[in-house]
Amino acid sequence: MLNILVCVKQVPDVDLVKMDPETGNLVREGVPTLTNPLDLNALEAAVQMKEKYGGELTVITMGPPMAESTLRECLAVGATKAAIVTGRPFGGADTLSTSYSIVKAADMLGKFDLIFCGKESVDGATGQMGSQLAERFDASQITGCLLIEEVNEEEGYIIAQREMETGAETVKATLPCLLTVEKQNYRGRIPNLKGKLASKKAAIETFTENNIDGLDLNKIGEPGSGTIVPRIYPPDLPEPGQIIDEGSTEKSVAKLMDMLAEKGAI
Ligand SMILES: Cc1cc2nc3c(=O)[nH]c(=O)nc-3n(C[C@H](O)[C@H](O)[C@H](O)COP(=O)(O)OP(=O)(O)OC[C@H]3O[C@@H](n4cnc5c(N)ncnc54)[C@H](O)[C@@H]3O)c2cc1C
Repeated sequence: MLNILVCVKQVPDVDLVKMDPETGNLVREGVPTLTNPLDLNALEAAVQMKEKYGGELTVITMGPPMAESTLRECLAVGATKAAIVTGRPFGGADTLSTSYSIVKAADMLGKFDLIFCGKESVDGATGQMGSQLAERFDASQITGCLLIEEVNEEEGYIIAQREMETGAETVKATLPCLLTVEKQNYRGRIPNLKGKLASKKAAIETFTENNIDGLDLNKIGEPGSGTIVPRIYPPDLPEPGQIIDEGSTEKSVAKLMDMLAEKGAI
C-alpha cells in the first residue's frame, strides 16, 4: 500500500491578472482562481498509482483559506485526504520558504513513498518547487515524468520514463521518490457526482504557524525567503507595426518611401 502526496497550488487566472502601474505589484484581488492545470496532471498520475497499488493519496496546498476549493476539487477525483498550510506568517513566501513550510506540514502527516508535483505553476512558473521538495524530503527525483512503468514498494524502487530534449529515457529510482509530471499521458479526469458530493463533506486538515511541530518562524513567509523582488514590470514592447494601404502598390510604396525618409532611414 503506497502513501502518496500530491502538491497542488491554487493560482489566479493569469489571463486576468493586471499589474498596478504605481506599485509594480500584481493585482490579485477580484481575479478568479483555479487549480494549477499542470497539478491536475500530477494528481491523475497519483490517482492511477493509488488505483493500481492501493493506499492513501493526500493532497496538500499552501495558500489562503480559499485554496480549500482546490483541495475539494482533488478530493472529488480520487484524493483520500487533504491538508492546507495557511496563515498570514506564510505570506510573501518565495520557493525556499514555501518548500520548507510544505515539508514541515507534510512531516506531520507521515512518511510518503511517492510525492507528485506539477511541472510548474502557471503564475510563479519557477519550476523550482519539485527539486526543493525532493531535497527536503530526502527523496530521489524524476523530473519531466512521462509515464510510470512500475512501482515496487517491497524492493523500494520506481521505474518511469522521463522526457529528454531528444526523446525519452527510462530511469529507476529509489523510494521515496518525487516526480514532476508531464501532461501527455496523464490528462486530468472529470469528477462524477458521487465524488463531487463526497468532496464537499470531506474534512480538511489545517496547518498554521501554531500547530506544525518544530516550525522555525524565521524560515517561513517573507523572513524565510532568500529572494528579494525589488520591482515587477511589464517588458517594453516594440511599437506595433503599421499596414500601409494607399489603394495601389505604387501609392503604397510611395507612402512607405515618404515615411522612411521622414524617419531619416533613407
Ligand atoms: C519574494 C517573493 C515573494 C512572493 N510573495 C508571494 C505572496 O505574497 N503570495 C503568493 O501567493 N505568492 C508569492 N510569491 C510566489 C510564491 O513564492 C511561489 O508561487 C511559490 O513559492 C511556488 O513557486 P512557483 O509558483 O514558481 O511554483 P513552481 O516551482 O513552478 O511549481 C511546481 C509545483 O510545485 C507545487 N507547488 C507550487 N506552489 C505550491 C503551493 N503553494 N502549495 C502546494 N504545492 C505547490 C505544484 O505541484 C507545482 O506544480 C512570492 C515569490 C517571491 C520570489
